[in-house]
Amino acid sequence: MFAYNDRNGPLLSRFKLKRSSPKITIEKTILKRTNPFRVASYVLNAHELKQLPEDNGIEVAIAGRSNAGKSSAINTFTDQKSLARTSKTPGRTQQIVIFKLDEDRRIADLPGYGYAKVPLKLKAHWRRVMERYFQTRSCLRGVVLVMDIRHPMREFDQQMLAWCEAANTPCHILLTKADKLKRGPAQSTLLKVRRDLPDIASIQIFSSSKKTGLEELVDKLCDWYEYDDETA
Ligand code: GDP
Repeated sequence: MFAYNDRNGPLLSRFKLKRSSPKITIEKTILKRTNPFRVASYVLNAHELKQLPEDNGIEVAIAGRSNAGKSSAINTFTDQKSLARTSKTPGRTQQIVIFKLDEDRRIADLPGYGYAKVPLKLKAHWRRVMERYFQTRSCLRGVVLVMDIRHPMREFDQQMLAWCEAANTPCHILLTKADKLKRGPAQSTLLKVRRDLPDIASIQIFSSSKKTGLEELVDKLCDWYEYDDETA
């Protein structure tokens, strides 16, 4: 379990001290951790798979229908205001955008081609590119699939999940914009969506505006990127 520092100081966390005494729960213990995603920087835009960096190291892809809140989620966990562009204009992200954390670790921001306003030809192009990406990219460690909590599991999302399942790639679903719902409806959406998920999938509630679920997401990403737990 990780907590990590943001610029305003360390987050307070509850955690169980497993090694020395499984029964002792230390409350409000401060785990100091540097957010490893803050160093993310832009590398390139790829229109085709052959333009991607070499297929080695660890890559985590972030996917989501246009307007789902994907760019905001990337900006939130990298703690940067405008690394991924946020936009009210759907369909703007039409290429794979690569960010790097270090020489061996990358984030791939996948195009949100599912939105109706993206031209059909472009949609078909991206469908083919995405399918091949999932089938062939061996450095792909996991996919964060961002869904608006008010409109979960649309056709695009089901397709992404199916590709993850076919490639046996873990998929972590973010039900984002949770601040738009009250706690009850948000929880019941979580339970409902979770019920039908395949084994490769996990799910959580998230909000970029309120930073809800940020620690849980950082935990998952640290796990995939094989960052060690650096407690102070
Ligand atoms: P993308 O197209 O999936 O990259 O979506 P964006 O991140 O650009 O977000 C689309 C719109 O939703 C923007 O107006 C964001 O400000 C808004 N948005 C994104 N995340 C949240 C959130 O957690 N809460 C709220 N209230 N609005 C959000």
